Amino acid sequence: MENIRIYNTLSGKKEILTPLEPGHVKLYVCGITSYDYCHIGHARSALAFDMIVNYLRYRGYKVTYVRNFTDIDDKIITRAAEQNCSASELANRFIIEFYRDMDALGIDRPDVEPKATDHIEEMIELIEELVDKNMAYQSGNDVYYVVESFPEYGKLSRRNLDDMQAGARINVNEQKRHPMDFVLWKGSKPGEPTWDSPWGPGRPGWHIECSAMSRKYLGATFDIHGGGKDLIFPHHENEIAQSEGANDQPFVTTWIHHGFVTIRDEKMSKSLGNFLTIRDILDNYHPEVLRFFIFSTHYRNPLDFSETAMRDATGGLERLYKCIAAIENLKPTGDDKQQDRMVLPEKDREKILSLEKRFQESMDNDFNTARAQGIFFETAKILNRSVKLIAENPSTKDTILLKDCAVTLKKLANIMGLLRENATEYLSARKAMQIAGLDLDEEEINRLIEERNKCRAEKNWARSDEIRDELLSKNIVLKDDAAGTTWSVK
Ligand SMILES: [Zn+2]
Repeated sequence: MENIRIYNTLSGKKEILTPLEPGHVKLYVCGITSYDYCHIGHARSALAFDMIVNYLRYRGYKVTYVRNFTDIDDKIITRAAEQNCSASELANRFIIEFYRDMDALGIDRPDVEPKATDHIEEMIELIEELVDKNMAYQSGNDVYYVVESFPEYGKLSRRNLDDMQAGARINVNEQKRHPMDFVLWKGSKPGEPTWDSPWGPGRPGWHIECSAMSRKYLGATFDIHGGGKDLIFPHHENEIAQSEGANDQPFVTTWIHHGFVTIRDEKMSKSLGNFLTIRDILDNYHPEVLRFFIFSTHYRNPLDFSETAMRDATGGLERLYKCIAAIENLKPTGDDKQQDRMVLPEKDREKILSLEKRFQESMDNDFNTARAQGIFFETAKILNRSVKLIAENPSTKDTILLKDCAVTLKKLANIMGLLRENATEYLSARKAMQIAGLDLDEEEINRLIEERNKCRAEKNWARSDEIRDELLSKNIVLKDDAAGTTWSVK
């Protein structure tokens, strides 16, 4: 349990996870601004932290996982006006759509999911504390944070105020003392949603909600704060300034940031026509294929979505399911004389027995799911040849070893949300889907295979080859082995 190392954006290196309260990890993740359907970038974020929470729990930690909803924001107000509904109607509608996507992806709910609009009081309190300490000031109807009052401003993104100031732009309607001062409370314009405050009617700025809600649910200092790399500056930098400014104690021990998603090597954008929502993808792929694809890259690295990558993920996942199905279909020999016989080479037996340990080593190293998938494949290769060996040389002991390993493999893959389906059912559904795109059905394929088997028995090789070629021309590949003839789609 003491071996998990996590890359911390704040220190710029991997550090051993040491929760403030031993055995209990407190995690806060910035959630969605709910004004539209979620895209693949949101899927990556939700999946990355789902995997991290699953792994920590599997390793014996208690985890309290908080992820917020930003349900009041400029984008929400603008979109609601376009659609002739209220900001809260729009936000609530897309929270429901978000849950639909998360459920489809098989992602568990966090322990607490606070909405910004339910915590206006806590935000006002926090802003008042900052005002009292001269770390915030009212200007017009707005309240701003005094960046110069927090000497460590820029420590997360490794920038300093002078550099930032050089590139800063000030909106004409903002009356700020320093160009980098950021808004804590916005006076509302006519027609906008508004709440009463000591500074007049208005609404909270975006950054203050995470400082207020994380303090309420996890305390002034907690273990892990997460989000996408795009949130490092200014959002997370500002959260640190607000929280440490108000609380006079460290805000977060470890900052985890995941990488971006590109589509066919381009930045995802609606104008480029390569904007992919979660449901677009799930129309074409099984949710586990998307999860497999996302975890085939380390969470901190950039991830590029393409049809080729998804095809690879489909194939990779299928290989694992085939391995599981082959082991599950392995019959105990039932022959007492074979009880103590062992047929697997010692080297393979060791690899099989060390699967879980090897998996933990890769995951302990900053949740290296890509390496973990590699270990699954290495193991599957050994398992496949073991199944063949046992089919020819029955061994009760080794059969049990393989069946135990398949159970372990499923348990570990489950941390990434993989191999959750019944293997045989997954594979037959997959086959049905593949032949749906061809101009022949399964019955016809089986009839041709039967005819070919008859021809082979009669040594009618000409017709037997003809059938093989006919099926190949329709993308059906035949494979003959000891167990008989099987087919797959090319
Ligand atoms: Zn946040």
